[in-house]
Amino acid sequence: MTTTTATRVLVLNSGSSSVKYQLLDMRDDSRLAVGLVERIGEETSRLVHTPLNREGAEQRERTGPIADHEAALKAVADELAADGLGLDSPELAAIGHRVVHGGLRFTAPTVVDEEVLAEIERLVPVAPLHNPANITGIRTARALRPDLPQIAVFDTAFHTTMPESAARYAIDTEVADAHRIRRYGFHGTSHAYVSRETARLLGKAPEDVNVIVLHLGNGASASAVRGGVCVDTSMGLTPLEGLVMGTRSGDIDPAVAFHLQRVAGMSADDVDVLLNKKSGLIGLCGDNDMREIRRRIDEGDERAQLAFDIYIHRLKKYIGAYYAVLGRVDAIAFTAGVGENAAPVRQAAVAGLEELGLALDSELNEVRSGEPRIVSTPYARVAVAVVPTDEELEIARQTIALAAPNSLD
Ligand code: ADP
Repeated sequence: MTTTTATRVLVLNSGSSSVKYQLLDMRDDSRLAVGLVERIGEETSRLVHTPLNREGAEQRERTGPIADHEAALKAVADELAADGLGLDSPELAAIGHRVVHGGLRFTAPTVVDEEVLAEIERLVPVAPLHNPANITGIRTARALRPDLPQIAVFDTAFHTTMPESAARYAIDTEVADAHRIRRYGFHGTSHAYVSRETARLLGKAPEDVNVIVLHLGNGASASAVRGGVCVDTSMGLTPLEGLVMGTRSGDIDPAVAFHLQRVAGMSADDVDVLLNKKSGLIGLCGDNDMREIRRRIDEGDERAQLAFDIYIHRLKKYIGAYYAVLGRVDAIAFTAGVGENAAPVRQAAVAGLEELGLALDSELNEVRSGEPRIVSTPYARVAVAVVPTDEELEIARQTIALAAPNSLD
């Protein structure tokens, strides 16, 4: 009799109106299927499913109302079953869930039970947009496969090693503690993965390498990683702080918020929307896609140029700040949509920093590739790396390590 070893992991990233998913086989980190459901709760919901487990299998798309997350996950389960990858398969080891906010309690991936769910729920006030959707995703998946380990992998976990000097804001300690106000940081799964991959690219152990990771997607954050351990990061209590982002302002004088409420008659919610949704690149120039901004710059558009310059100025300030925090830097790693693809952003961000040991090879920097690579000159003291992030793979790795540690022996 042969027994089936469970080596597959389903990774779920549940947003307020979307679910992204990937089914991976952890024997070789291969993707068996990927997909997404969007506009959940609307008439025009859409499911796009791509099977990758056999040659020539085509992407499938369905549109039509999908009422809620439960219906969305059932639809995903049906699509997977149609490819022989059903959730009832004995090869499925666990479901890994991206959870945005784990507060201070969750410093590592965690097997979900009712008590853990209650704690994730307690963190809703500090992550009102994200944690409720994550909870719904977990509950729905549990209902479909109650016997299967559900693992929560937290965006904040990698940052829980930050020293208090980096994590605490300089405000009244009692107020801060009463309301759990501090720097938590986000994109942690990406920062963990990219800092480790950067060490590998340098042929070194993570413990021996200091890295500044620049995760530049639509949301953007920087982190300072000393010997594999995060010591500072730019996002804070919420993902609003730090770098200039697609639609978020990043760092701003907090008095701007009171000023707008007192002088412009805006409510707290209005200011929240302004800073999170109508600021950053889109607020500055009307576009948040770096490709479009570069195109406009090439046509001589001054607003696009200024938005780009503000974006780069902030990035440079964080490179300098984290250089000082780390003392010695071995590499700066660019990742996510902008970091991986926008050569002009990398070029401008490190321009003029030769005294800090940074020098790009402009030809290497222009090469387009999906592989991790070094784009600095061989003489530069600090390597500049482009390292594609893979949050789903990282979540799947952490999930199987916890749920079925011996399955890959
Ligand atoms: P998120 O996961 O935060 O939504 P991504 O990491 O996918 O974002 O990054 C999305 C951003 O990447 C887009 O807004 C776009 O500006 C940028 N991007 C993608 N491809 C390119 C490219 N070839 N050149 C410049 N920017 C790019």
